[in-house]
Amino acid sequence: MSIFNNRKIYIFLASFISILMVASYYYFDFVNAKKYEMQEENYKHQATDMHSRVAQMIFEKQKATIAIALVLSQDQRLIDEIKNRRVHRNYYKALVKKLKQDTEYKNIWINIIDKNLNSVYRSWTNKRGDSVKNVRTDLAEVIKTKKVLYTISSGKFAVAIKAMVPIMESNRVIGVLELISHFNSIEKGLKKSQIDSVVMLNKEHTQKLQHPFTETFLEGYYIANFDVPKDKLAYLQQEGIENYFSTGYKIENGYIIVSYPLTGFKGDTLGYYIMFKKLTDISTDNEEFFIFKWVAVGFIIILILAGMVNLVLFYLLARQKSYIKNIIDSSTNIVIINDKEKIIDVNKTFFKYFSKESSIEEFKDRHGCICELFVHEDGYITRYIDGELWIDYILHNPDKPNKVKIIYDNQSYYFSVGVALVSEEKGYYSAIFSDVTNEEMYKKELETLTITDSLTNIGNRRYYKIKIEETITLAKRYKFPIAVIMIDIDHFKRVNDKHGHGVGDSVLVEYTKLISTMIREADIFCRMGGEEFLIIVPYADLQKGAKLAEKIRKKVADHKVVLPITMSFGVTEYIQGEDSEHLLSRADEALYEAKANGRNQVVTR
Ligand code: GH3
Ligand code: MG
Ligand code: MG
Repeated sequence: MSIFNNRKIYIFLASFISILMVASYYYFDFVNAKKYEMQEENYKHQATDMHSRVAQMIFEKQKATIAIALVLSQDQRLIDEIKNRRVHRNYYKALVKKLKQDTEYKNIWINIIDKNLNSVYRSWTNKRGDSVKNVRTDLAEVIKTKKVLYTISSGKFAVAIKAMVPIMESNRVIGVLELISHFNSIEKGLKKSQIDSVVMLNKEHTQKLQHPFTETFLEGYYIANFDVPKDKLAYLQQEGIENYFSTGYKIENGYIIVSYPLTGFKGDTLGYYIMFKKLTDISTDNEEFFIFKWVAVGFIIILILAGMVNLVLFYLLARQKSYIKNIIDSSTNIVIINDKEKIIDVNKTFFKYFSKESSIEEFKDRHGCICELFVHEDGYITRYIDGELWIDYILHNPDKPNKVKIIYDNQSYYFSVGVALVSEEKGYYSAIFSDVTNEEMYKKELETLTITDSLTNIGNRRYYKIKIEETITLAKRYKFPIAVIMIDIDHFKRVNDKHGHGVGDSVLVEYTKLISTMIREADIFCRMGGEEFLIIVPYADLQKGAKLAEKIRKKVADHKVVLPITMSFGVTEYIQGEDSEHLLSRADEALYEAKANGRNQVVTR
């Protein structure tokens, strides 16, 4: 009665698993897409962060250089010096040295020009007096607008961050003080956030370099930072540096690569600040939390689904169980589920028969196996039959009648029993007992009728035939003698003729009764036909048989009820090995002799 015999449940489980598989496919697809989206967002966020970080650092640096430049530009000493066209180099040298010492700007230069764009002082060379008119439009711009200018610009040496401050006297521009700073501190600052940088200068500006400060080039582009990481340069070379001339970001080779354009004061792009950050250095906490969250949600969903499936299966099982139980209960047969030794379950009909038991437990306590109620009787199954347990016997002999007789509460029942294995795994069998009591009784009655004489109610000739064969079989086996007494009423014709057939019948009945009282239970008394009778006397030899015959002869002759009659007797004894025909004909001969000798006598043979 396993639930898995049920096709519906198979279909249900199969569909559930299919749905679960499809759902989990879409679910993981969804989580993956979501994760990818999140990653993209993280990268975008990271790129923006790197962008603004470098922009911020450049801006900070520019502000700092302006501040210094502003302070210097208002120094009366400088104003006087420009006016006199004579600068004390050592003073500024010391100043630069002090700036290098006291600030994080390790590469800083001072450039002073007059209002005609002629060089007054350069901290990096002794040259002076030359015109920078053609190369420094930015300085001309400062003189013209009298405004501070901070920018990134490239010159003969490198690309650098520059702050240009007009030097004023009585509201007139008399020169420009320029403070030049390198990207190095920015590079170092970014390094603290695990960002490697490559500062590159456009080709057109690279071509103008006369004294490249770092002396590093890549595919004809100047690389402006000092500590440029070699592997990043190699990577850019391999991939083609021009592919990174954009303001976007790329995810490549385990890195996020972000380019920040370096723009000059006119808004022209001088080059790019290219930053590399390892993806593993990017915080993915939100992604991890996301994954955790959705995996947890998925897990809970699966738990809920599994719970639901369990419930459905439980419900189906319960329904199936009650369905099967109902079918079994509706049977008019007794249905017993047992494991050969003991009863496991029974149906309602069981208690209709075994009405004194209120539960199976009670029945088991009182009787144990149902087979203990099987009555030992010829033709009926008992607990052990042919060396087998009743269940096994019935299983192995399904074509035999397989009937049991049960006496319960003083009432006899006959059942036809069928056995089937219902659970191999548990070793459970069903035994179905169909009530055949009425049929059996009827059959027995019929059987009795066919062997009974209807007038005298003793056995008839057929009965005699059955019994003599049975007795001979037993006598052969147990070696006991059998005496046979054949009886015939004398001149019975006359009774009929004189008193009528009815009286004749009454005589037959009366004297049968009389003889019945004179024999033992084990003796078999039959009417062989007409007024002829026979007694089989087991355990009696010829002598004992003759003695019994003589006793009966006397009693009959003295009885005289209905009518006085006499009887003749032929007695013989069974001879080992002969058949019943020979035995009977010998008795017949003896009787014939008794008749011939004058009747009312016993003759033995
Ligand atoms: P004997 O045996 O002494 O030689 O004489 P008998 O008159 O008995 O002879 P037989 O055996 O030939 O006759 C038997 C008679 O019994 C014949 C029949 O009329 C009578 N008879 C047989 N069966 C019945 C029966 O069932 N009822 C009655 N009333 N008479 C029967
Ligand atoms: Mg006769
Ligand atoms: Mg007779």
